[in-house]
Amino acid sequence: MSRPVISIRGLEVGARSRHGMLRPLRGIDLDLPRGATTGLVGESGCGKSMTARALLNITPNPMRITAGSVLLDNGAAGSIDLARLEPDGAPMRAIRGRRLAMIFQEPMTAFSPVHTIGNQIAEMLTIHERLDKRAAKERAIEMLDLVGMPNARQRFDAFPFNLSGGMRQRAMIAMALACKPDVLVADEPTTALDVTIQAQILELLARLQAELGMTVLLITHDLGVVARNTSRVAVMYLGQVVEETTTEALFDTPMHPYTQGLLGSVPRLGSRHGKRERLPAMRGSVPPALSELPGCAFHPRCPKAVPGLCDVVKPAMAEVAEGHRARCLLYPEVLVASKALEAAA
Ligand code: SF4
Repeated sequence: MSRPVISIRGLEVGARSRHGMLRPLRGIDLDLPRGATTGLVGESGCGKSMTARALLNITPNPMRITAGSVLLDNGAAGSIDLARLEPDGAPMRAIRGRRLAMIFQEPMTAFSPVHTIGNQIAEMLTIHERLDKRAAKERAIEMLDLVGMPNARQRFDAFPFNLSGGMRQRAMIAMALACKPDVLVADEPTTALDVTIQAQILELLARLQAELGMTVLLITHDLGVVARNTSRVAVMYLGQVVEETTTEALFDTPMHPYTQGLLGSVPRLGSRHGKRERLPAMRGSVPPALSELPGCAFHPRCPKAVPGLCDVVKPAMAEVAEGHRARCLLYPEVLVASKALEAAA
């Protein structure tokens, strides 16, 4: 298997606040295989968007990367640890845009309202690809055409507010992909759109991914979107990945009680092969990023929690089946790994 294009290890993000230390990311381990779409799922507040931002080294103030690494494969030159680069320094800015790009739920976040979308895409190309003005304009029109913008040449001169939500989303994708990045991070890219436009945008992303050979991290709370559009999935809970495997295995045999609870809220998606067995639904909500819980962070909500174990031992991540990792003490492999970690601490 080729080296993952992104390899995240032990990534932590935090900030001091009046109420204590905020820790939205508490040791993320995640690989993005080259050319694949990996889904990142979990309820609001689990740290999905913060993972995306930390990957691009754009954590919102005052949040900072406090530990861990984000290794970007750099071919024969080895890898670059993005977590060690200055967020606003020239090396990081060059990597953002050229090698990594991001699209958001709300395209207005990406565009300046006072410049035309065409000029904003062309500017990316003059900065990162060093194209002259005329060549940048032609390439920007090509990109608008590629993402299915009707009358791309005329739309070059449109302002963001001139476009519908779906068209703005297409324009943002054109801008993100203008420099043909290796990795696209898509944070809830279709959540604000109606179902028909949502399907069109996801289809467009899948087509562009195949055409450009991109690696995609697709962040969503929508398990249906994950089932249809990803080949691997990582499930997050309170700043950690708690389960990670192929999309097929996750939907057919979810192994972490949190994943089982998420799938239980959408019974029709409990299996991609038509098994309709009902998984346990979930009670409660994700604790705030300030929380420091003993043992497993999910234990107050877990229907399978074992008193005296789950509220005491912090579960490590371990392989519980071939290619399937989970962070739950019910699996002997996890228990052994967790005890070993405890002993080493
Ligand atoms: Fe539930 Fe215990 Fe597993 Fe945590 S470790 S998910 S509390 S069974």
